[in-house]
Amino acid sequence: MTPSVVGIDLGTTFSLAAYVQNGKPVVVRDGSGAALVPSVISFHDDGEVLVGSAARARALSDPEHTIFSVKRLMGRTLADLQKELKHIPHQIVEREVEAGRKVLHVRIGKREHTPEELSAMILKEVVKRAGNPTKAVITVPAYFDDTQRQATRDAGRIAGLDVLRIINEPTAAALAYGLASKQIGTVAVYDLGGGTFDCSILSLSEGVFKVLATNGDTYLGGDDFDRTLTELAAKEMGIDLSTRDPELLQYLRDAAERTKIALSTAKSVEFAITLPERGISFRRQVTRSEFEKLIDPYIQRSLDKCRSALKDAGLRKDQVDEVVMVGGSTRIPYVRERVGEFFGKKPHTDLNPDEVVALGAALQADILTGNSRGMLLLDVVPLSLGIETLGGVVDKLIHRNSTVPCRASTRYTTFVDNQTAININIYQGERELTKDCRLLGQFKLSGIPPMPAQMAQVDVTFLVDANGMLTVSAKENRSGQQASVAVQPSHGLSPDEVENLVLDSVKHAREDFATRRFIELKNKAEADMRHADKAFARAGDYLSAEQRGQIDASRGNLEAALNGSDVDALHHTLEAFGTATLPLAEMLMNAVVNATLKGKGAEGLDANSL
Ligand code: ADP
Ligand code: MG
Repeated sequence: MTPSVVGIDLGTTFSLAAYVQNGKPVVVRDGSGAALVPSVISFHDDGEVLVGSAARARALSDPEHTIFSVKRLMGRTLADLQKELKHIPHQIVEREVEAGRKVLHVRIGKREHTPEELSAMILKEVVKRAGNPTKAVITVPAYFDDTQRQATRDAGRIAGLDVLRIINEPTAAALAYGLASKQIGTVAVYDLGGGTFDCSILSLSEGVFKVLATNGDTYLGGDDFDRTLTELAAKEMGIDLSTRDPELLQYLRDAAERTKIALSTAKSVEFAITLPERGISFRRQVTRSEFEKLIDPYIQRSLDKCRSALKDAGLRKDQVDEVVMVGGSTRIPYVRERVGEFFGKKPHTDLNPDEVVALGAALQADILTGNSRGMLLLDVVPLSLGIETLGGVVDKLIHRNSTVPCRASTRYTTFVDNQTAININIYQGERELTKDCRLLGQFKLSGIPPMPAQMAQVDVTFLVDANGMLTVSAKENRSGQQASVAVQPSHGLSPDEVENLVLDSVKHAREDFATRRFIELKNKAEADMRHADKAFARAGDYLSAEQRGQIDASRGNLEAALNGSDVDALHHTLEAFGTATLPLAEMLMNAVVNATLKGKGAEGLDANSL
């Protein structure tokens, strides 16, 4: 069976896909039964490109043309990577592709590729095994920021995929274990992979997961365990690891990883490496307890990170209801033991830890394509967020159920001449008017230079980060003045309250809409009258008596409609007023144009005042 949509775990060391078959998620395997595709690409001067196990095998003989760990480069700048460059064996360059926009490139031999392109090659290999589906959900670590998520999305697009959603790895893992069906709870996800570690604390209510906190170390994982074994063997073999011999180093690392993996099931394993052409033949028993001593400092460090994550989430260990193990390195019995001890409960280990993220992504993909009946919402903004505009109307910038992180911007302007400050009032809720929504926070953007009404350009930006934190910022473009505030949007609302607010908005939708429309028309009418009055004072004398009479009459009608509450009447009288004042507007326009043509200023006439 060929699925049309897959969930993809695009990992630092391994990637894989899964899909839902007969209601159950299954991972995609190749002919030999392997699910994991090494996230490795190998380039050759003759133009050949290998991806996956073939590339990894080639790494032995040609490490310089082989790329590992592209994920670390996604959405990063050269400045972000300064500290990490020593770990990256390839040359990384930054190119300015257009003014102000720079893009990273990895140089391999004569070729250069962006991290997005490289990740796309891995994605292509993964979906090829699944029979080339066109739609996918791709997972990213919870700590990935906006740019890193966007880069991942772009990689999907380059690979020809319609990326339905980018979701958090820990959320996917919790989903794979069916934890969403529990109504409420706190889940700790411990993810120890090949090169990275992270611990995320999720809260679950009514099937909605939220990342409360995440902490980790982007250089802690299985590679460290391989290295301790490599160092042990090298020392006993009398090999100096600092002499640059990438081929030998790669052989040693491979042997070390095999030994490590075998130790997850056997109590004692032979570390063996034979390279006759170099005169190397080494054999040595490694016991599990010896290995545990070697890796203990790393496990300790990971647990320290868990402690920090709990602290950030404001929780004690005993408040965690479920612990989920993710990542190939959690197959190590000692890791399971220590994590269980730390949280004081048995972690979930029934699913393959290196497949669980892809399985959860597959479930999410299935839900998004409408195949599952269950309505599951993941990492979403529970209620719409917006700001108050003139007359107590809420202008929604971010809509309920948008996946986090998300960002939205709208441009506003000033309403009166020489207005030097704008109050930004932030509201949450589904209704149209501020009085029916909840005030989350407010701040003032001041220091706007005096200018005519409608001239200022204030860009208000809402950003909800992966943890659900809302930051609102405002910037006046002409002066560069800016201000911002951070607020916690969902604070204090129970799922029932959220549900009620949603139902309320449906019940009142029609009347709310009418009220909102009335307020908007009223704002426009008042502004139009103000402008017409100004114009009239300057050019009214040039109008005919009939034209003046029409303006007076339509203004009277408009004022009457403003005192009423009929939206349609207001709409019609406002249009009639516009028609009546048209000659006035034209006259002023002509005066300005003529004056400009004659090279003089339009004495007393000012087009802006229209
Ligand atoms: P990623 O970092 O891409 O998320 P994985 O979660 O697949 O990677 O983890 C890969 C790591 O898991 C590698 O370091 C690999 O050696 C290690 N690993 C895989 N299987 C085992 C095992 N049985 N015992 C110990 N380590 C393992
Ligand atoms: Mg992983």
